[in-house]
Amino acid sequence: MVFLSTTLTEEQIRRAEEFHGHWCPGLAWGLRAAEWALREVGCAGDEDVVTVAETDMCGVDALQVLLSCTAGKGNLLIRNRGKVAFSFYRRGDGVSLRLVARTLPDPAEEETRTLRENPCRTAEQEARLGELRAARARRILELPLEELFERKETTEPVPPVAPMEPSVVCAACGEKVMETHARLRRGRVLCEACFETEMPRK
Ligand SMILES: [Zn+2]
Ligand SMILES: [Zn+2]
Repeated sequence: MVFLSTTLTEEQIRRAEEFHGHWCPGLAWGLRAAEWALREVGCAGDEDVVTVAETDMCGVDALQVLLSCTAGKGNLLIRNRGKVAFSFYRRGDGVSLRLVARTLPDPAEEETRTLRENPCRTAEQEARLGELRAARARRILELPLEELFERKETTEPVPPVAPMEPSVVCAACGEKVMETHARLRRGRVLCEACFETEMPRK
């Protein structure tokens, strides 16, 4: 039995894996970030918790499952800056934190990269790559949270609650669009897609 430092249950891990569709190191990062967030701000099912993810990768799915912060509810915002970093806010009392992934020394880094960059892997190499990824994911579950993330203060205020706005009809495509997403061009109200078609960005 491998000692896992994670306090997440097998059930929580299984649910995240099921939702995400596979088991991978990225999901493990998300699970551990969620674990830390649960300690400090709790889960959106019980509290008014908002998550801002600075990545759109695998880990985000773990946050949706464990924290109940989801894209559809608007309490998961993805501001993709290509960083493994997550901010969590509890509206009720203003408690917030930002977790930034540390660089994990990986003894198999070189081997993993060589395998990953090889476009025509043999079945054997494919299996080896899977093994290495599983080992890395396992390690992310084993390490203490403090070794995985640096805990910082949030850098931005808690995102405001997005209110429902009235809709208008786009003069070009005839589709309804929320006022806050409408554009004005030569006196005509357009949706963003039609606006960009008429005024392509240089
Ligand atoms: Zn994944
Ligand atoms: Zn339109």
